[in-house]
Amino acid sequence: MDFLISIMSKNTSIVELFCIEKLEKMIKLRMEDRKLGDGQLEYIEKVRNIIRDFSLKTGISIKYFARTYGCQQNENDTEKLSGLLEAMGFEPTNDINFADLIIFNTCAVREHAERKILGNLGALMKNKRENPALKIVLCGCMFQQPHMAEKIKSYRQVDMILGTHVMGSFPEKIYKLYTEKGKIIDLENIDTLPLENIPTKRENSIKAWVTIMSGCNNFCSYCVVPYVRGREHSRYPDDVISEVKDLVDKGYKDITLLGQNVNSYCKDLDIGYDFSDLLSDLNKIDGKFRIRFMTSHPKDATRKLFDTIANCEKVCKHVHLPVQSGSDRILKLMNRRYTSEQYLALVEYAEKKIDGVTFTSDIIVGFPTETEEDFEKTLSLVEKVGFNGLYTFLYSPRENTPAAIMDGQVPSDIKSERFNRLLELQNQKSIESNLRYIGKIVEVLTEGYTDEEKTTMTGRTDENIIVKFPAEAGVLNEFVKVKIERAANWAIFGRVVK
Ligand code: SAH
Ligand code: SF4
Repeated sequence: MDFLISIMSKNTSIVELFCIEKLEKMIKLRMEDRKLGDGQLEYIEKVRNIIRDFSLKTGISIKYFARTYGCQQNENDTEKLSGLLEAMGFEPTNDINFADLIIFNTCAVREHAERKILGNLGALMKNKRENPALKIVLCGCMFQQPHMAEKIKSYRQVDMILGTHVMGSFPEKIYKLYTEKGKIIDLENIDTLPLENIPTKRENSIKAWVTIMSGCNNFCSYCVVPYVRGREHSRYPDDVISEVKDLVDKGYKDITLLGQNVNSYCKDLDIGYDFSDLLSDLNKIDGKFRIRFMTSHPKDATRKLFDTIANCEKVCKHVHLPVQSGSDRILKLMNRRYTSEQYLALVEYAEKKIDGVTFTSDIIVGFPTETEEDFEKTLSLVEKVGFNGLYTFLYSPRENTPAAIMDGQVPSDIKSERFNRLLELQNQKSIESNLRYIGKIVEVLTEGYTDEEKTTMTGRTDENIIVKFPAEAGVLNEFVKVKIERAANWAIFGRVVK
């Protein structure tokens, strides 16, 4: 009900749009479908009992090792799987060789990750021989692709394969893993709602990921995500706001909101609320902390978004805005639904509105039919924008995506050659961008030391730039002011000032 009250007070005109049935349906949807079911809580208890009995008998605990492949959303999912495992009584280990349960949360975005996962599984045959009680669980995007699921079924060392909807029935699956014989496979139903009350084991004490939506509706022609993660489903704003409030209360200072396309947040809920509204509401939370977000699709980035960033002091003045290519012909083939001109207009607007804004981006090199001329358009766009950093990818054909069967696949030597040219240009742009900080004072959230002797401290600016400085004047996990004296393409260097 708090949620409804908050909507009503936010914008009364919206209330008129709601009929009673719609309100009732929303409450029902929220209560029943958006939390871990009571049945699952029972399974958590059942597994706890199994583990406690085992530990009482043997005097040893059951240890789990979890590894993530892929994006930040996968990292956040692994934090939730780990939280659930610890609620069930498992103890964590950082050493895969000591684990009794190994869980790999997988990625399917590029072939490279898949090869790595299969290689790691091969090496685990030895662990399985040495510890016959060892259980190996695979979950996530990779097996949601039918050809990979088929392939992995023949891997004898794997005990359980779960799809991307894993969270909702994870305790039950773990119970089955320890009470039933045979391989467990559950790859049904990718289109699930994000769940609310999952215990989360945060990997960092000041930085936290907050997934605000799941799935993707965009179907970029090279990308497997919509096929393995289903359609977009947003969490309700008050659920996100209370999670962030709770994190801030616990001392988190750098919060990143996650979604495949955060700019379409709440479109599926049709409640007259959007991502900019969420940023404004989060900005009102008391406390000193930073709000970041990713990923922002250029086709849905509005002027309202950039105006909001400009007006919210807690929202970082840095936007990750993946452009993918500078050629309009390639952007069309990619189904990105914007042109390079529209992209540049967004950047120009943001630069006008947001003092000191920086951009990073993703670029795919060697998309099918990409010519030298197309690639030069990408170089030219990179030159014009002056990104502070770039994530560059060699195009990797993904089964069942339209691009994989396009004529004109680019030979790998040409892809690599273009990739290296792009890297070279970006290194030059990063250094140019970082040189602008020399002589300026930047605010840094400190996060660790770069050496064992703890002489140099490292942290990040609002724009996510790495800053290094002598440690004696710094305090770990705090905001400090650093005057910049030197710059490289990967970091800037300076001294703490009072
Ligand atoms: N939702 C985000 C991106 C998610 S995937 C967005 O739209 O921006 C992260 C990045 O991986 C993409 O931006 C793209 O640059 C890259 N990528 C996705 N599929 C790829 C493929 N088949 N080959 C190479 N890179 C790919
Ligand atoms: Fe993939 Fe495009 Fe969706 Fe990003 S927006 S996840 S690239 S389909």
